[in-house]
Amino acid sequence: MGFRFRPGRIVRFLKGDFGKPLIKLKSFVVQIVDLVTKAIIPRRCASCGAILVLEGLALPLCPECSKAVFPLEATFDVSSQLARPSACGSKPAMNVTSVFAYQGLIPALILKLKYGRAFWLAKDMGRLMAVVSAKYGPFDFIVAVPASPGRQLKRGYNQAFLLAKEISLVLHTSILPRAIYHKKTNKSQRDLSLAERWERASISFFKGQPFPKGAKILLVDDVVTSGATLTVCADILFECGASSVTAVTIASALTS
Ligand SMILES: [Zn+2]
Repeated sequence: MGFRFRPGRIVRFLKGDFGKPLIKLKSFVVQIVDLVTKAIIPRRCASCGAILVLEGLALPLCPECSKAVFPLEATFDVSSQLARPSACGSKPAMNVTSVFAYQGLIPALILKLKYGRAFWLAKDMGRLMAVVSAKYGPFDFIVAVPASPGRQLKRGYNQAFLLAKEISLVLHTSILPRAIYHKKTNKSQRDLSLAERWERASISFFKGQPFPKGAKILLVDDVVTSGATLTVCADILFECGASSVTAVTIASALTS
C-alpha cells in the first residue's frame, strides 16, 4: 500500500482538535511581535504620515484623515439585489458585509495594499473585517477570492489572501487555500462594463480542492464593486457543498 494524498484528511485534521490550538498559538505570537514592533517603531498615518498617538480597532489614520473614511453598517444580499445574467436564480443567497463605503480615502488605501506592497495595512483592515463578519459566524473555513495567476506572479501576493490571513487569526478559523481556482486572464477587471464583469467572472473561476460537505464559509475579497466575482465564487462553493456563504470586504461600492 503506497501513500495516497488525501486533501480531505488534511482539512479534517486541521479543522479538528489540532488545528484550533495551532491558530491560537500563531495568533498569540503575532500579538507579541506586534506589541514589540509598536514599542520600537511609532506607527504613522497611512495617508499623511503623521505619527499616531492613539490607536484602537481602526485603520491607521490620524484624526484628520479619519474624517475621510465612511464606515458602512450595512449588509447586502447581492443575489437579490443584482440580476444575474443567466438563469441561476435558484442558487442560495449569500450575505455580503463590508466595513467601509468605497469613498474618501478608502480607494487610495486599497490601492496601496493592492499595488504598493503596503502589507501592514492588511493587518488593520483584516481585524476590522473579522469584527463585522463575526456577527454571521461561526465559520468552518475561510476562502480568499484568488487573484489571476498572471497578476499574482507579477505582484507576488494576493491582497485578498493577506486579509484572509488576518481574519483567520482573529476568528481562529482555518483558511482553505485552494477551494477556488482562477483561470489565466489578461485584462484587468477595472475597465470592464457591468455585463462584461459578469461574463468575465463566470468564466474566470472554477472549483478547486474539495472540502467537507455542509461547511459554513467566509469568503474574503478587498472590494465589492458589481458583486459578480463574489457571486460566482459563492456559487462554486455552494456547488461544492457549502451550507452557507458569507462574503466580507473592506469596502463596498454597492448601494442599498
Ligand atoms: Zn493623516
